[in-house]
Amino acid sequence: MKIIIAGGGIGGLVTALRLHQAGFEVKVFESVEEVKPLGVGINILPHAVRVLTNIGLLPKVSAIAVETKELIYANRFGQFFWSEPRGKFAGYRWPQFSIHRGKFQVMLWEETLKTIGAENLKTNCHLHSFEEKGDKITATFINKETGQIVAEEEGDILIGADGINSVLRQKLYPNEGGVVFSGNILYRGTAKIKPYQTGSSMAMIGSNKQKMVIYPIGEPDADGNQVINWVANVREPEGAKITVRDWNRKVEKGLLLELYKDWKFDWIDVPEMIEKTDGGIFEFPMSDRNPLDKWSFSRVTLIGDAAHPMYPIGSNGASQAILDADALALALLAEKDVIQALVHYDQERVPATAKVVLQNRQKGPDFIMDLMEERFPDGFSEDEIPHEELAQIMNQYKQVAGFDIQSLNAKT
Ligand SMILES: Cc1cc2nc3c(=O)[nH]c(=O)nc-3n(C[C@H](O)[C@H](O)[C@H](O)COP(=O)(O)OP(=O)(O)OC[C@H]3O[C@@H](n4cnc5c(N)ncnc54)[C@H](O)[C@@H]3O)c2cc1C
Repeated sequence: MKIIIAGGGIGGLVTALRLHQAGFEVKVFESVEEVKPLGVGINILPHAVRVLTNIGLLPKVSAIAVETKELIYANRFGQFFWSEPRGKFAGYRWPQFSIHRGKFQVMLWEETLKTIGAENLKTNCHLHSFEEKGDKITATFINKETGQIVAEEEGDILIGADGINSVLRQKLYPNEGGVVFSGNILYRGTAKIKPYQTGSSMAMIGSNKQKMVIYPIGEPDADGNQVINWVANVREPEGAKITVRDWNRKVEKGLLLELYKDWKFDWIDVPEMIEKTDGGIFEFPMSDRNPLDKWSFSRVTLIGDAAHPMYPIGSNGASQAILDADALALALLAEKDVIQALVHYDQERVPATAKVVLQNRQKGPDFIMDLMEERFPDGFSEDEIPHEELAQIMNQYKQVAGFDIQSLNAKT
């Protein structure tokens, strides 16, 4: 069976590797001319690391990632109110990784190239359209710049792994319209500064009014400095209408330095971190799309951001794409009838990811930040922290996103 994948992002490449491992022939078509290490940090949760481990990628991933030890939450005065161990430190059989998105994609690209060969991994091929005839499907790819047809490929299945602005999704749902903007703008960057807390702690500071997420994505250098990824989350003025989600738009530091000028704590100096940011600050209007009832139409289906773009809250964007890849391979292995296998894939992944999209709209685990801000706007004393209530919220998110420790550790 031959499977055509449109999109060579994290989702498309892991799908290619997982399907190849399952014994299927795969061919990937990526829109850009050259895959460059774009983006900043992302997290990969234990449920997704399990899939990467089973494909044999664990050594390669851990070589370019930081193993996350703990997740900590603090209010806008830098006071901690929640901490929990993560990954193996929490007893999972698999680690949690903080990693540079672009480095991860490039590593996956090189692995895919080695595994399926250059003839099956094409750049400069932007999915344009598809046609199903009998039991075959033909996908047509164009050069995005010139609009010229550059490839026509026949296969048994076509997978849209073409991200938030998926062409395939648009063909399947022509009336869907643009992305849904959350009203929040994310600003992202990386800075080399001295390690804070354990040296591999993911920290969430503030509330949804104004938030800062930080985590290291590199080990300390000879001077003891470490690359820290940061994401500032700021409310957009009322009425802002942003419909394009572009990951690569750069902005100046000024606005952020002003907004975060008072966030100097004894464990991290946020203005200093913003000041030391190099490589640019990227703006990203936090957006998603409404969950769909169905991704699979006969021999065509979707995965990753094409299927379920979600707010990057709770570290699930890339992780859920990796889980899709595994579920798709298992569905195709279990059911010979391709169309029926895709129905089974839908039955497993459509409702599971819809829950995460919707939960992230309710702020996901970061709901506890607003709870603390509302109850203690001027700070709190140790004995006021509602530990049990916070624990309930955190545990519920793990169940929704499929990484509660008992069910995950029971898997191989
Ligand atoms: C440039 C970039 C930077 C990002 N930076 C961050 C970040 O800093 N933090 C974060 O949390 N998430 C980031 N993301 C999103 C994150 O990578 C995804 O949420 C997650 O990894 C799921 O990946 P995906 O493969 O489904 O989608 P994506 O990562 O969006 O990958 C989609 C791929 O498909 C290609 N493509 C698009 N249209 C077509 C087409 N018609 N035909 C063929 N190929 C096509 C794209 O070039 C891309 O390589 C970024 C995504 C991109 C594309």
